[in-house]
Amino acid sequence: MTFDPVLVSTLALFLVSLGSAFLVALWVAIVIWTYRDIRARVRERTVHILAAFLVALLGLPGVLVYLILRPSRTLEEEYQQTLEEEVLLQSLGDPLLCPGCERHVREDWLICPSCQTRLRKPCHQCGRLMELAWTICPYCTTPVPGVRKEVDTVEEAVADLESAASKEGARPPIREEEATTN
Ligand SMILES: [Zn+2]
Ligand SMILES: [Zn+2]
Repeated sequence: MTFDPVLVSTLALFLVSLGSAFLVALWVAIVIWTYRDIRARVRERTVHILAAFLVALLGLPGVLVYLILRPSRTLEEEYQQTLEEEVLLQSLGDPLLCPGCERHVREDWLICPSCQTRLRKPCHQCGRLMELAWTICPYCTTPVPGVRKEVDTVEEAVADLESAASKEGARPPIREEEATTN
């Protein structure tokens, strides 16, 4: 059995070019795959380019290095994780933290037992707990002592002025006397 040397060399050339074409296609494919994969994991453009460059330079061993170094989770997975954590936190209820020491405190505590920061104050009329910033009790509408009550109607304002005026009138008019003596 004899082979035509021209046919053999043509066949060999064909196989070699086929193999080379496959290798080039594989090389291009892994560079594109790496670029897409790193884009799903990292936002920085320089990292995208670096990863693609690493694989373009080293080929398949570069992919191995990339697989070892790449972030384990994609941005989408991280986003889902954050959402799940937020939902979990909300279902647990917003835990109250002491503004002084950031330890957990209960809603009905007047003072933080750890750092003695005042947390709430009792209403002096009905005794229910109020936030420190509140100037009026939301349960019994008693204003906090030392805070002027907001006047909400014109009649109340007039009544306030009249009572103030009658108090003024009850006092001896010192200034008018001074004015007449001078
Ligand atoms: Zn505290
Ligand atoms: Zn009250």
